Amino acid sequence: MRNFSFANPVKIIFGKDTIKDIANEIPIGAKVLMIYGGGSIKKNGVYEQVINALTPFEWFEFPKIEPNPHYETCMKAVALIKEKKVDFVLAVGGGSVIDATKFIVAAVCFEDGDPWKIISEGMSIEQAMPFGTILTLPATGSEMNNGAVITRAETEDKRAFFSPYTYPKFSILDPTTTITLPSRQVGNGVVDTFVHIAEQYLAYRENNTLLQDNFAEAILKTLIVEGPKALNIPTDYGVRANLMWASTWALNGWVGCGIIQDWATHRIGHEVTAFFGLDHAQTLAIILPGVLTVLKEQKAKRIQLLGKEVFGLSATSDDILIDMTIQAVEDFFEKMGVKTHLSDYNLGDEAIEKVCERLKERDWKLGECQNVDYKMAKRILELRK
Ligand code: NAP
Ligand code: FE
Repeated sequence: MRNFSFANPVKIIFGKDTIKDIANEIPIGAKVLMIYGGGSIKKNGVYEQVINALTPFEWFEFPKIEPNPHYETCMKAVALIKEKKVDFVLAVGGGSVIDATKFIVAAVCFEDGDPWKIISEGMSIEQAMPFGTILTLPATGSEMNNGAVITRAETEDKRAFFSPYTYPKFSILDPTTTITLPSRQVGNGVVDTFVHIAEQYLAYRENNTLLQDNFAEAILKTLIVEGPKALNIPTDYGVRANLMWASTWALNGWVGCGIIQDWATHRIGHEVTAFFGLDHAQTLAIILPGVLTVLKEQKAKRIQLLGKEVFGLSATSDDILIDMTIQAVEDFFEKMGVKTHLSDYNLGDEAIEKVCERLKERDWKLGECQNVDYKMAKRILELRK
């Protein structure tokens, strides 16, 4: 275990019928801006519950945050907050709405020119407006972390930022809100959560991290058992509750304490989404098996552990076990309805060239050993055609 410090200030309110509790969490007398997406919350009753709970407050709304939220859309919300003198922001939706909200609350307070610099130049922020979230799609962990991923449509850039000021004050996790998710988003959520753990659990280790490994395995096993059930029996509350809590814990900082981390799959995946518009998890399901194959020597012990402890596999040799495990990962993604090859989205050599050209320009060295450069990314993507 490496040295670490850990703090997570997000208050979680979990369970059925908890949306009404926002009234106790938002400061009395605050002017509230509710931010949401393309309208799923109007079809499943969440919107109604939120506006009932907001009765004691003066409130405004900002709809139409798109999946993979755009900087350009966020800046319109920033203008509305300034115009209406809003004091508290409420994000209602999935990772896109929550991530957009994080950028918005930071951008409102940014006084050093264009807030895109928070992302493009990694400029640190000194403050952000307070905000809470109501999560409707378990996947990203954004409801309990301080990161966000924003796309600048104009330049086809999809980039992340993190700040100690962009933790939500509270997050409401009511699993009943997730019952209306289309199966595509159920699959996406399980795959994203799986890959968040994989980016941590499968990174090369320098020393003993047994406790962290056990936490990670518990989450992965939960996904493997409950993920397919959520597709087959969409109304099972227990299943939805386990998946929601699993996705939150996969990326709230806890599993990552004291370990070296990878994140190459996510970073390459963001480029694929930025250029070709695939869902976040669709890119991950393609890339992770390629990363594991190309880096199988470096990650050998970790992949074997995944095979044995999570998938219950055994084999006559280490090499066979590694190959079986990578195949099991791919099969699980397919079982969740998320495709695992570029050709499933009509992408091929041209797409690979475009992504690798971008990685070359950026001169990124990704992964836990910082050895995934554009050339290695090309090998990874070539395997996933
Ligand atoms: P999302 O983009 O927030 O939502 C995907 C779709 O699901 C939207 O069309 C949305 O519709 C719909 N939806 C959401 N809740 C629903 C419900 N209860 N019933 C029916 N439909 C529902 O998906 P996401 O996977 O949560 O977020 C993806 C984004 O998060 C990507 O940009 C990704 O890069 C980022 N991400 C962030 C982190 C982080 O730590 N911050 C980590 C991983 C990924 P409406 O728009 O109509 O609501
Ligand atoms: Fe992710």
